[in-house]
Amino acid sequence: MPDLIVIGAGLSGLALARAAAERGADVVVLEARTRIGGRVLSHHTEAGAYDLGPAWVWPAIQPRIAQAVQAAGLALTEQAEAGGFVYQDQAGRTQRLPHGLAQESPSMRITGGIAALVEAVAASLAPGVVRLEYAVRRIALIETGVAVTADTRSGPVTLHAARAALALPPRLIGGIEIVPALPPSVGAALAAVPGWMAGQAKALALYDRPLWRKAGLSGSAFSQAGPLGELHDASLPGAAEAALFGFFSWPPALRAARRAALPELVVRQLGMLFGAEAGRPREVIIQDWATDPFTATEADQANGNAHPDYRPIALPAPWGERIALAGAEMAPEFGGYLEGALAAAEAAEIP
Ligand SMILES: Cc1cc2nc3c(=O)[nH]c(=O)nc-3n(C[C@H](O)[C@H](O)[C@H](O)COP(=O)(O)OP(=O)(O)OC[C@H]3O[C@@H](n4cnc5c(N)ncnc54)[C@H](O)[C@@H]3O)c2cc1C
Repeated sequence: MPDLIVIGAGLSGLALARAAAERGADVVVLEARTRIGGRVLSHHTEAGAYDLGPAWVWPAIQPRIAQAVQAAGLALTEQAEAGGFVYQDQAGRTQRLPHGLAQESPSMRITGGIAALVEAVAASLAPGVVRLEYAVRRIALIETGVAVTADTRSGPVTLHAARAALALPPRLIGGIEIVPALPPSVGAALAAVPGWMAGQAKALALYDRPLWRKAGLSGSAFSQAGPLGELHDASLPGAAEAALFGFFSWPPALRAARRAALPELVVRQLGMLFGAEAGRPREVIIQDWATDPFTATEADQANGNAHPDYRPIALPAPWGERIALAGAEMAPEFGGYLEGALAAAEAAEIP
């Protein structure tokens, strides 16, 4: 019987599993998807990996990320911002400004994408620790610890362990039957915590070259017209291709209503922002996290863009003695961020 079952193989769950394994615990990680990483996801081309989830880290102010990047031997590059900035008003009119807003601590990107960091953490776990396509649907407190039931390709499987740790967006915990049931006030507190960026979507546009730079533009833009609200250069350092990415400003319901037309609308907007040639990308990839049931819930369809003030929640006894809560939204600091995912793993303190 393992000492610990970690539920969720995002950065937080993997970091938690690694820390527990390093302390000598026998750990199993159950992951619902066919892949690790959770909200960390890359689009791969021959030139490298583009982030469709998180793309930025701030190692100057995020000690755990700085340490993890260094330990994994990964290179960092500053987000390209040199050049003019484009502003688009509600009517779609564009204006070129000499530069964007200066940042106190520059956003940094990891060469190989954030997935390279997640893979480095996962690589430190023994083979067989992470089990993919184990969608946990029930956790029962039993005399010896916990009984965790997951839906797998070969039907439901129940595993026993001394303890469990949930490392997923808190609202998803509501979809797992906990026996005995959590007090309603605790369930409500978890349901009130938005998954950071869970209602968001990103578009990535690939080009043969960074044609916006030729026009003196950085690739950064802010739009009040949409469908994209904020755009940046996503090109990989030294690559023989270029890319832009944008966050959608359209809410999930509007994106859903216009789903089939979205690629065309994105391409048209790129042309308006950066010139006709930018309206002819080689490829456009759209990743809508709001439609992913292992990231977003119904409540996340209405998330605002403001960063919530995340506070850790601890389960009361008897649940808290057997079930720890991790995941970026449970972080004591940098809640919602990758740094928070690591901080929450650290704070979960599984012996
Ligand atoms: C578009 C976007 C942009 C972002 N940009 C940034 C950024 O630039 N910088 C930054 O720091 N952060 C950013 N974030 C936030 C960042 O992605 C998160 O902080 C981080 O990935 C959270 O990691 P986690 O392990 O806590 O959760 P997740 O990555 O959500 O992992 C949870 C895991 O649990 C699994 N799971 C869910 N339900 C079950 C179940 N029932 N059984 C088993 N497994 C289950 C999921 O499949 C998933 O793998 C962004 C997020 C998004 C979506």
